[in-house]
Amino acid sequence: MKIVGLETFLVAPRWCFLAVTTDEGITGWGEPVVEGRAATVATAVAELAEYLVGQDPFRIEDHWQVLTKGGFYRGGAILASAVAGVDQALWDIKGKALGVPVHDLLGGPVRDRMRSYCWVAGDDPTEAAEHALEKKAQGFDAIKMNGSGSMRALESKREIDAMVERVAAVRAAVGDDFDIAVDFHGRTSAAVAREVCRLLEPLHPFFVEEPLVPEQTADYAAICASTTVPIATGERLYSRWDFRDVLGSGIAVAQPDLSHAGGISECRRIAAMAEVHGVALAPHCPLGPIAFASCLQVDFATPNALIQETSLGIHYNQGSDLLDYLVDASVFEFRDSSVALLTGPGLGIEVDEAAVRRAAEVGHDWRNPIWRHPDGSFAEW
Ligand SMILES: [Mg+2]
Repeated sequence: MKIVGLETFLVAPRWCFLAVTTDEGITGWGEPVVEGRAATVATAVAELAEYLVGQDPFRIEDHWQVLTKGGFYRGGAILASAVAGVDQALWDIKGKALGVPVHDLLGGPVRDRMRSYCWVAGDDPTEAAEHALEKKAQGFDAIKMNGSGSMRALESKREIDAMVERVAAVRAAVGDDFDIAVDFHGRTSAAVAREVCRLLEPLHPFFVEEPLVPEQTADYAAICASTTVPIATGERLYSRWDFRDVLGSGIAVAQPDLSHAGGISECRRIAAMAEVHGVALAPHCPLGPIAFASCLQVDFATPNALIQETSLGIHYNQGSDLLDYLVDASVFEFRDSSVALLTGPGLGIEVDEAAVRRAAEVGHDWRNPIWRHPDGSFAEW
C-alpha cells in the first residue's frame, strides 16, 4: 500500500482535519491543529506531504522519526501537531487495513469503558455551579472549570477569595461524590498558585491544571511540594523530552494532547513514562471527534489512563460540536460519565466526509482572545 495524498480541511468551530488517502482506497483521518494556528499547521502538513506521498503507510514509527527529526530543526507546537495528525491518520489506515481497532494494535483493551469529563462555564467562570448541576443531571460525575479570569502576578485578597468561592459554590451544588477539576490555564504566577492551591485543599479538587505557564515547567516541583492538591499539566508540552523532567516533579496527572504531542505514537510513550513516576494519564482534548477517538484508543490500551476530557458542549464549540462530523455519532454514547470501548476498525469512527467538505468551504479563522490587565499590559488568557 502507498500513500497517494494528504488533504487538510479547516472546519468549524476551530478545527483542522486531515485525510490521508492510499492507492488501495483506504482513507485515514487525523486532526492536526493548534487552536488559533490551524492554517499554519495545515501548511506544515503540506510540507510533510512531500515526503509521505509514495511511502508505505504501515511504517508509522519510521515516518514519525523522519517527520520529527528529518528536518534538522525539531520540536514545538506547530511541527509536533502536524506530525500528530499524520500519526493518527496512519494508525487509522493500519487499523482499517487489518480490520481491528487501534487499541488492539497497542496490546488490546485494559478496560471496557473510559471515564470522561466535560467543561462547565466559560473563559471567565461564572455560573459554574449552575452548569455543573446541568452536567450532573446529564449523568456526568466529573467536570472541569476555569479557576479565574486574568490574574496579576500578585493578587488581592478579593481575587484570591473569589477563586476559592467559585470552587466552593460548585462543591456545595454537586456534593462530595463528584469530581471538580480546576484549570488555572497558566494565568497564575507561582506565588498565587501556591496560595490558592493551599486554600482549595479542603474542597478536594480532583486536580488543579496548569498552575504555571509551560516555560516555567521547571518550577512544578515547588508547586507540588507546597500543596496536597493533585497537580496536572502537559497540554503545552509536545514530546516525551518535554515531559521528561516534569514527570518526576511530583505532578499527579500528565495531560499530553493527542493532536499536539506527536499523536498516538508519542502519547502512548509519554503514558508509559508517566507510569514509571506513578503519574496518571488524562489526555487533553478540547478538540474534535478524530482527536477524541485517538485519545480513547490510547486510553483503552493504557493502564494508567485516569479520565478523558471531552469537548462536548465546551464553550468554544460555537456552531459545531463534537458529534457533527460523524456518520454514526452513537459510537461516542456517553453513559454514567463514560464512553464504551470503540470496536470499529482504525480509530473506531466513520468521518462524514461530505459534511467535512461542506464545512471546509466556509472554513474558520478562530483566534483566542487577547486579554489585558487594567493597566493595559498583556495578560495570560
Ligand atoms: Mg487546560
